[in-house]
Amino acid sequence: MFTAFLIKYAEIAIKGKNRHLFEDALIHQIKYALKKVEGKFCISKTQGRIFVEAQSEFDYDETIDALQHVFGIVGICPMIYVENEGFEKLKETVVKYIADVYPDRTMTFKVHCRRANKSFPMESMEVNAKLGEVLLDTYPEMSVDVHEPKMTLNVEIREKIYIYSEIIPGPGGMPVGTGGKAMLLLSGGIDSPVAGYMIAKRGVKIDAVYFHAPPYTSERAKQKVVDLARLVSRYTGPIYLHVINFTDIQLYIYEKCPHEELTIIMRRYMMRIAEHIAKQTGSLGLITGESIGQVASQTMNSLIATNEVCELPVYRPLIGFDKEEIVTVSKKIDTFETSILPFEDCCTIFVAKHPVTKPNLNVIRRHEHNLDEKIEELVQTALDTDELIIVE
Ligand code: ATP
Ligand code: MG
Repeated sequence: MFTAFLIKYAEIAIKGKNRHLFEDALIHQIKYALKKVEGKFCISKTQGRIFVEAQSEFDYDETIDALQHVFGIVGICPMIYVENEGFEKLKETVVKYIADVYPDRTMTFKVHCRRANKSFPMESMEVNAKLGEVLLDTYPEMSVDVHEPKMTLNVEIREKIYIYSEIIPGPGGMPVGTGGKAMLLLSGGIDSPVAGYMIAKRGVKIDAVYFHAPPYTSERAKQKVVDLARLVSRYTGPIYLHVINFTDIQLYIYEKCPHEELTIIMRRYMMRIAEHIAKQTGSLGLITGESIGQVASQTMNSLIATNEVCELPVYRPLIGFDKEEIVTVSKKIDTFETSILPFEDCCTIFVAKHPVTKPNLNVIRRHEHNLDEKIEELVQTALDTDELIIVE
């Protein structure tokens, strides 16, 4: 029965002069999200509100689902509309609306009318009172509570008259594209997709890099990362995923450096390479799924070592999260089931039995000098063979 949606957005409404930029980004993301939904939609912006109107048959559940993936939306109000043809017509429509939407009408309500179109012959207070009366007469099980009603029937009088009473929660956050771009280090695990989601939620566009180590990591492990990127892209829009062949670098480190420092030194090269691509492609920061103390390479001492090789800020949105909290988000965003598929990622194969948990920076730097002969060339080759996959 619903044919249109009012989009509520809170945080972005307070951005003063930038407001229209935020609204335009939001509309852009809504269009992107609705492209995948069957049906034709018209998206319009009037007087600080965004409307999505269906212009053909459409799938209601799919539409809601798509809109619930658009950051910046705090609420989605399914609406019906009626031509602006006077009170009688409005009254009939409202009575039918209540019957259709609320099979059980034992509830308190109020009517809230907004009259943007002053050609309508009644003032909003009068509409509130009259419609309230009509509903009380038609449905004796309903009662009025103007302070804390269970249901608020909103009536917006514009060129047409819009009626809505439900607010379906949106994901919140800011529209992607309003906050610059960052490079996500995306592995096949549980954490990094969640980290990307969280930064994107602040309006940041996401690129991604995956370090692949064939034949130690399989094609299926890579496909899993592509699949994860696709799931995250439901929220972020298209993701440019760089797949870097890391095998030779990894083997070289394995050959030249103490094994208990392998993970740290590998992570330092991942950060260096990620930053290099980030700078070339306009990213303003790096994102990782690290969380303090989760594994040896994520102690505060280890983080000093991985952090020192980058100039760009490294965003670690999960830094204070327990695994359980991360899992909760990953289930919510639908990446969990894919993340736990059992294909090794490149760290698990080269892990030492007893990795250092308090790496000494000077020692790490000294051992990295063991790599001087060939590492630059290997890094250059890895960059030159960057495979770009556009995921959407
Ligand atoms: P995740 O669950 O995200 O894989 P993790 O618990 O396995 O994380 P680590 O393997 O220590 O943790 O990696 C820490 C972070 O480094 C990851 O969250 C990710 O951002 C990045 N990272 C690790 N391995 C890779 C890889 N092969 N490609 C890209 N990024 C990686
Ligand atoms: Mg991992």
